[in-house]
Amino acid sequence: MRAVVFHGPEDLRDEVLPVPEPAAGEIVLRIDAALTCGTDVKVRRRGHPVMIPRVPTVFGHEFAGTVTAVGAGVSTVREGDRVAAANSAPCGECRPCLARRPNLCEDLLFVNGAYGEYIALPSRLVAKNIVRLDRVAAARAAFAEPLACAMLGVERARLEEGQTVAVFGHGPLGCLLGMVAAARKCRVLLVGKAGWRLDRVRALGIGECVDAAASADVVADLGAMTDGRGPDVTIDATGRPEVWEQAMAAVGRGGSVVFFGGCAPGTSVRVDTRRAHYEELTLVGAFHHTPELIRQAVDALETGAVAPDGLVTHRMRLDGVRTALDLMQKGEALKVLIEP
Ligand SMILES: [Zn+2]
Ligand SMILES: [Zn+2]
Repeated sequence: MRAVVFHGPEDLRDEVLPVPEPAAGEIVLRIDAALTCGTDVKVRRRGHPVMIPRVPTVFGHEFAGTVTAVGAGVSTVREGDRVAAANSAPCGECRPCLARRPNLCEDLLFVNGAYGEYIALPSRLVAKNIVRLDRVAAARAAFAEPLACAMLGVERARLEEGQTVAVFGHGPLGCLLGMVAAARKCRVLLVGKAGWRLDRVRALGIGECVDAAASADVVADLGAMTDGRGPDVTIDATGRPEVWEQAMAAVGRGGSVVFFGGCAPGTSVRVDTRRAHYEELTLVGAFHHTPELIRQAVDALETGAVAPDGLVTHRMRLDGVRTALDLMQKGEALKVLIEP
């Protein structure tokens, strides 16, 4: 089979590998659709000790496919079933898992290999984190993983119907956060920078767009758009400390700030202690996803409650993966659909 293999930073190679055989508890999928992700761009540049503990490995982590082979002992799916799979599986036994926070599992098993014709899914993933698809197309089902992350962010915000949420960042995850919030009947203010991506996001109608590049003071603008009160919830989806600070400055009294975008190691932010205390701000991180949210994400994609198809700006074959990641890096693509 053809596959795009990660050998180390800046070393992605097109290779021909044997089609995997399923061991006991495993399944093999034919990949029908994979999606590029901002994480891919980062990992290609510097590697990732947690997501990619061993090299070489087939690259890519957002995918949906069709079961072509089933290992001994697997009874939940059979050949021909279409499934979406998460890119990780929690152990179910450690403290965070037992405390029902499996996204913080101390032994999270990561799975890569979306950019290949076939993938073998390890038994723990098969047991805990695959979902059978009903009608939804593979291209949409491949959004299950990033959508589940966005749902975790919204869950952490404890967003309620009718509230106003400002999302900082108009990349794919900022857009998905906005879509999840809009599906919960919230008013969405999406802060981005002018350019074709913001135009595209505006055309998708996810929310009201705020052009940070044209604004002298984004925090003041968000205040003005909310009768001076500030949004009920702000979410950073940029992973930049200065934007985390904007998100804290913009949120209204009693509001919640979600730190969704991961910042570079060693960075820090300043917190206004007066506001944090007297205005009871909730400052909360959001990381990764849970098996329950993967299921909810597939449900939302099946019913169309969230329909992120418009975030796909390009479609390519496997030999286009490097071009696709270059486009992502230059900010010239939102999501590239890879159909092996
Ligand atoms: Zn991703
Ligand atoms: Zn665990």
